Amino acid sequence: MRLSDYDTNNPHEMTLQSTEIITPADSEAEVRHLVLRFDDTPFSYAEGQSIGVLAPGPYEFGNTQHLRLYSIASPSLGDDYRGNTLSICVRRCFSIDDISGERYPGRASNYLCDATPGDTILITGPYGVQFQVPASNEANLLMVGVGTGIAPFRAFVKSIYKRHGGWKGKVRLFYGAKSGVEMLYMNQLRNDLALYYDQASFKAFEAISPRPHYDESPDLHRVIVENAHETWEMMEDPNTYVFLAGLLAADKHFERAMEQLAGGSDAWQDKKASLIASGRYSELLYD
Ligand SMILES: Cc1cc2nc3c(=O)[nH]c(=O)nc-3n(C[C@H](O)[C@H](O)[C@H](O)COP(=O)(O)OP(=O)(O)OC[C@H]3O[C@@H](n4cnc5c(N)ncnc54)[C@H](O)[C@@H]3O)c2cc1C
Repeated sequence: MRLSDYDTNNPHEMTLQSTEIITPADSEAEVRHLVLRFDDTPFSYAEGQSIGVLAPGPYEFGNTQHLRLYSIASPSLGDDYRGNTLSICVRRCFSIDDISGERYPGRASNYLCDATPGDTILITGPYGVQFQVPASNEANLLMVGVGTGIAPFRAFVKSIYKRHGGWKGKVRLFYGAKSGVEMLYMNQLRNDLALYYDQASFKAFEAISPRPHYDESPDLHRVIVENAHETWEMMEDPNTYVFLAGLLAADKHFERAMEQLAGGSDAWQDKKASLIASGRYSELLYD
């Protein structure tokens, strides 16, 4: 779906309740955890949905708005379970001009990262449900993500262990970042996911780039293959749901690892087709 296809009529006014940098000072990236409050606006959402953010003008020639999408990073009652907030995780983005090499700040992400508590933010949606927590708590969840792709998985993990009162199926998170400090919600500054490490069903696997300063993508492929036996066993289990999120790089690594585990590209494509046909394969990828 193109951005112009999203319904942006009737945007909601939300108040920025808090903004917190979740990448340590020695990280090249700046990523923030933003909590938006909607006291007077009736608004409900589910884990796995995204919202639109309308950044204020002036707009580029020919545009009447600047809409960008962000995955919801909180469980459906909010981080504090009070039912009047949602959280997003935003990377401050820049685009580089191919010819001049000049760096231009991305409008929506810089608007969000510069916003201060009390500011009003116009949001649209919620959109999707690209990802849905399976109804049975015996389902296995295989989650694979890169960078800000951790957002929906944070919502998932918080939700299944708190709201659903524990989870019996296996929950496996393969997560990649450029460096250890960029492992969002899994770094020394903020380690939300560590709260779940003692859950018998939960395991998280970290992949970082072998050469972070050369912009090489994280070695997700290697980490998945290192856990080949269990990963493939889960793939063969009709009770397993697969979720992929974040930058398109996640998909490339996942496909390569799966082809290796399946014993070839055709075997993996057959397996993937059967996962899709049974509604057990979902992806939320962006570039
Ligand atoms: C369904 C969906 C969910 C998304 N969820 C999130 C999210 O949870 N958090 C988030 O930060 N972004 C997310 N994005 C990306 C987001 O919508 C914007 O594209 C991004 O913030 C840049 O917008 P901008 O207006 O600041 O910059 P633009 O002027 O549109 O572009 C800036 C540059 O940044 C690159 N870029 C865009 N997103 C990222 C990223 N996340 N990491 C690294 N480089 C990137 C672009 O390729 C572009 O070169 C999501 C996109 C989609 C389609």
